[in-house]
Amino acid sequence: MSKLLEYNATLVAREDFEATLSTFRLRLDSTERPEDRPWFVPGQYVTIGMNRAVVEGEADPRPLSVRRPMSIASPPEDRETLEFYMRRVGEPESDLPLTHVMWPIAIGDRMYCRGVPTGHFTIEHTVGADDRRLKLCIAAGTGLAPFISMARSRVRREPKARLDDLAIVHGASYATGLGYRAELEELARTNGLRYVPAVSRPTADWGGWWGRAESVCDEVRRSEAEQVLGLPRGGLSPEHVAVLICGLNGTIANTITGLLDRGFVPDNRKLRRALEVEDDRPATVFWEQYDNTPVIDVKDAELVATLRRTLHTALGR
Ligand SMILES: Cc1cc2nc3c(=O)[nH]c(=O)nc-3n(C[C@H](O)[C@H](O)[C@H](O)COP(=O)(O)OP(=O)(O)OC[C@H]3O[C@@H](n4cnc5c(N)ncnc54)[C@H](O)[C@@H]3O)c2cc1C
Repeated sequence: MSKLLEYNATLVAREDFEATLSTFRLRLDSTERPEDRPWFVPGQYVTIGMNRAVVEGEADPRPLSVRRPMSIASPPEDRETLEFYMRRVGEPESDLPLTHVMWPIAIGDRMYCRGVPTGHFTIEHTVGADDRRLKLCIAAGTGLAPFISMARSRVRREPKARLDDLAIVHGASYATGLGYRAELEELARTNGLRYVPAVSRPTADWGGWWGRAESVCDEVRRSEAEQVLGLPRGGLSPEHVAVLICGLNGTIANTITGLLDRGFVPDNRKLRRALEVEDDRPATVFWEQYDNTPVIDVKDAELVATLRRTLHTALGR
């Protein structure tokens, strides 16, 4: 049985985009931050948590508290608060889903936040800070969080920063689920961010990209995708582009498999081994996964053989 968490943070802002899609901004009680380096690196996450209500005299077999990792959507230049972009899950797996305990909270309510950011899904740990290629960020739903932090941080450090090397494809079922849309459109206008909102169940008046975020990587829509991403024909290649993906397993799997025929190499040891990729070939597809379902079943011999053939053909082997 998990123990009660000692609350150390206060909800100071909340925005609801849909009934089950919101941002939460927390202020931590502790004001201690490293003096000599940023508080965290955009792309990192922290652990947040809550205790459940306890009714005296009532037997309840559920754990007393729940903690979950959560990507930070705010930039490290915000020294006082951390923002999170969250979906209340419809089909949770646990007995005490954090998103269900957390959804009713209001401004001023308290919760737990382990104020030690962690994680390697950063530009520095993936493509590298000096990489000059276009960073194509495929975000499914709340998978936008690391990318909005990256974009925000660059503009906070230098308001006129050019974001031409950053493309964010943000997928949602409905246009209402495109959180941060106005902010990203503004960054596109003022700083050159390539922003592609994608809606998979659009209404008749939707004029943007139709389909899931990862559909920009489908072979059949490639030239259309290159056009909206501002790439030349054939430009969606590892020579010009590195890919970062964030979300659930389906988005990640579809993006990886969709790009193999262009020679994009996944950054995952097991998968690379299954696809027989040489150790010294740099990865060009990186991801942060929000659930636990394996992205690609490397024990599926038939699937792996097909994927391997596609990649080897693209690599000229
Ligand atoms: C490094 C990391 C960063 C994360 N950052 C975020 C974030 O910024 N925002 C966020 O909403 N979640 C994020 N998650 C997922 C988060 O940790 C929880 O899994 C999620 O909030 C559900 O927790 P729960 O206790 O409510 O549900 P559980 O009872 O734990 O149910 C888990 C199930 O919920 C589903 N699920 C998990 N995350 C999502 C999601 N985002 N949207 C739809 N379905 C989901 C999956 O099917 C998963 O199997 C992140 C996960 C990791 C590993």
